Amino acid sequence: MGTIKCIGILTSGGDAPGMNAAIRAVTRSAIYNGLQVKGIYRGYKGLLTGEIKEFKSQNVSNIIQLGGTILKTARCKEFTTPEGRQIAYENMKKEGIDALVIIGGDGSLTGARIFAQEFDVPCIGLPGTIDNDLFGTDTTIGYDTALNTILDAVDKIRDTATSHERLFFVEVMGRDAGFLALNGAIAAGAEAAIIPEISTEVDQLEELIKNGFRKSKNSSIVLVAESPITGGAMHYAERVKNEYPGYDVRVTILGHLQRGGSPTAHDRILASRLGAAAIDAIMEGQRNVMIGIDHDEIVYVPFTKAIKNDKPIKKELINVLRELSI
Ligand code: ADP
Repeated sequence: MGTIKCIGILTSGGDAPGMNAAIRAVTRSAIYNGLQVKGIYRGYKGLLTGEIKEFKSQNVSNIIQLGGTILKTARCKEFTTPEGRQIAYENMKKEGIDALVIIGGDGSLTGARIFAQEFDVPCIGLPGTIDNDLFGTDTTIGYDTALNTILDAVDKIRDTATSHERLFFVEVMGRDAGFLALNGAIAAGAEAAIIPEISTEVDQLEELIKNGFRKSKNSSIVLVAESPITGGAMHYAERVKNEYPGYDVRVTILGHLQRGGSPTAHDRILASRLGAAAIDAIMEGQRNVMIGIDHDEIVYVPFTKAIKNDKPIKKELINVLRELSI
């Protein structure tokens, strides 16, 4: 694509550790390949307000280890309207930006898909979300770091759970996806994970109690994925109080601490590879795809596929947790 001379980069939606590593990779790889780079601040909002600045290699120095995003992120309601996107397009043209790299989750990539279609703008997406809920990529930028943060927290909660012989419900993020809860539970050696993917199939609490999860143990930790489908940790604690009053139950909601922190080696490498691949994709003339990793190979996933399909949870993981928590 000889016509692409300048790319714009933005981070949008929920922040995730490793977004900075991705910004660095996209910027440096673009410059390496002779492209000009412009950083767009506060997600799509920056496109509407013209908060855009040229990025040189040194603008992304010393950020690979930082959580959050130096470009800031935001949610932008105006961008969901045709009028808002028209302003975004005009600003983009005014700045001489020929293509966009969007780092974000499901919502951000949905916006990119619509924008790309309306204005025939090449858009490349990078999966940046702790939830790991994008189809077509094994993992997303930020997921591994969040998982490790959860692990650290649950290890600490276990100390107090054991001392007091309590049942703890620990609520983790995930936005309708159970990856953090399930893999967090496996890694932390928790007794169970309550996840949206199986919430509608069985009463997970009843199953837990029925299986006698406390028979040989003096404490129990259950990870609950925050979601309207599961009802969250408070919902389960209330149920235990009402239906199984013998248990001394407590709730911890991990909340926003899961989004912060220095990215793990895994997330830094993932973000670096995906960022460099985004520029390769642009140079190859690809458009409107998310860059993903599948069996350790870079793949291009059309936006429609990445957004529309639910990423399945492996049954094997559910079984591993069940078998190992006896
Ligand atoms: P995430 O990318 O983390 O899933 P959001 O769902 O909040 O975060 O989406 C981030 C931003 O993407 C929104 O604030 C909006 O600007 C844009 N966006 C989301 N959905 C749409 C849509 N259907 N049309 C246009 N823009 C959208």
